Amino acid sequence: MSESLLSLIGVDRNFGGVQAVSQLSFEIHPGEIIGLIGPNGSGKSTSVNLISGALPVSAGRIEFAGRAINALSQSERVGLGMARTFQTTSVFPEFTALEQALTACHSKFLANPWEAVFRQPRGMQEELRQYRKAQEILHFVGLGSVAEHPCETLSSAQQRLLMIATALASEPRLVLLDEPAAGMVASERKDLAGLIRRICDQGIAVLVIEHHMGLIMEVCERIVVLNFGRKIAEGTPLEIQTNPEVIQAYLGGAVDA
Ligand code: ADP
Ligand code: MG
Repeated sequence: MSESLLSLIGVDRNFGGVQAVSQLSFEIHPGEIIGLIGPNGSGKSTSVNLISGALPVSAGRIEFAGRAINALSQSERVGLGMARTFQTTSVFPEFTALEQALTACHSKFLANPWEAVFRQPRGMQEELRQYRKAQEILHFVGLGSVAEHPCETLSSAQQRLLMIATALASEPRLVLLDEPAAGMVASERKDLAGLIRRICDQGIAVLVIEHHMGLIMEVCERIVVLNFGRKIAEGTPLEIQTNPEVIQAYLGGAVDA
């Protein structure tokens, strides 16, 4: 097995008296698709927030690409190759899909920003390169035909794909997807599964947080299961589906197929 890209080592997060994440440890390797599942309130979104740097850990250590990142800001983590989507879609409604994707390309803008402002040749070349890259990414996620459409006219599934495109535009090594299939119908979930596999084929690791067991079981090589902030199981989809503690954790809660 290759060296790990992301490691969580004994990570805790409390909100006042609530222990949202407790002693969580797991690893993600380059190009791997990992699922993070658990009933509502089990600590999935909090875990993503801790990994991305949206929230500080209360205790424990997070390493990315061989270095401790506890003290790094969200944008520093993006700079190291980590990108995320949110549980709720957050597009700029009046931007076109292409403009939305370009917002993330620009965070990787290589030319001197003054050159871009004053339309110097190198700045314009860079702008053109970013524009082409954003178009390519929109095609890659299946939004090529709506690149010029305002975000507010896109379906909710298309907005979710746009969030993934925006995440990919920062050229990440790891993408964190928080409930990417929320609100999707079966055919849209199938397309999403295909997209997640194509992301992984590019050598990018993907952490998928989902409520939808069907999607997770279909795409993930390994699954980490949380309950009340603790890891209760880790294994292949088959191991997880037949794990008595996992079945117990989901009893009483709806398990979507
Ligand atoms: P999940 O994404 O698995 O549904 P969350 O990570 O959102 O779960 O929440 C885990 C626990 O932490 C829940 O009990 C939730 O109420 C609590 N929690 C999450 N975020 C906050 C917050 N900002 N302030 C207080 N409690 C929070
Ligand atoms: Mg959540």
